[in-house]
Amino acid sequence: MSNEEELKKIEEGCRKADLPLKKFATNLVFGKGNPNAEIMFVGEAAGRNEDLQGLPFVGAAGKNLDKLLNQVGLSLEEVYITNILKYRPPENRDPLPEEIKAHTPWLLEQIKKIKPKVICSLGNYATKFFLSEGDVELMDKQPGITLVHGKVKFVKINGVEIKLIPLFHPAAIIYNRTLLPLWEKDMEIVKKEISQ
Ligand code: URA
Repeated sequence: MSNEEELKKIEEGCRKADLPLKKFATNLVFGKGNPNAEIMFVGEAAGRNEDLQGLPFVGAAGKNLDKLLNQVGLSLEEVYITNILKYRPPENRDPLPEEIKAHTPWLLEQIKKIKPKVICSLGNYATKFFLSEGDVELMDKQPGITLVHGKVKFVKINGVEIKLIPLFHPAAIIYNRTLLPLWEKDMEIVKKEISQ
C-alpha cells in the first residue's frame, strides 16, 4: 500500500473514532499535502473555514501560509499540513487538556507514516505541545515562540523522535509584519535541515 493509501486509512480510523469535539464540528480536519513530505507543518486547530471545508489552513491564516511558502519556493505539493486538534473547538476556544490527549495519538500516527525530516510547529500552542514531549500538564512551563523560533530542537513523543523547528504562526504574521523577515530567516534554517 502507498503512503497515501495508508494515510487515508488512518484518516478513516480517526473519522470513526469517538473523539471529544466531534459532536460540535461539521467536518474532521485531518491534514492536507504530500504524504511523503520532508517538512510537516503543525498548527493548533481548525477555525470556522477549516471546519466547513474539512481542510486545515484554508482561511486567512492559510492564505498567508500559502503566500509565505511561495515566497521561500515551496508549495503544498512538497509539504504536509495538519493541526494538533482534528476537530474545531466551539467558538475557537482554547483546547482542553483531555481534548489534546485524545486527539494527539492521531497526530503521532500521521508523523509515523509521513516520517518528515523536520516538523515545524506553527505558533505557541503547537510548539508547547512538542516541547513538553506530549505531556500536556507541562505545556504551560515551556518557553514561548519568541524565544524558540528558528531553533532546532530534538524531542521524543511516545518513542517517536522528532526534529522540531518552531515558527511564528502565519496568522500572527498577518498582524505583525515585523515577524516576516524572521519567518523567512527561520525557513532558511528549515531548508538547510532538509537538504542534509
Ligand atoms: N489556525 C490553525 O492553527 N490551524 C488551522 O487549520 C487554521 C488556522
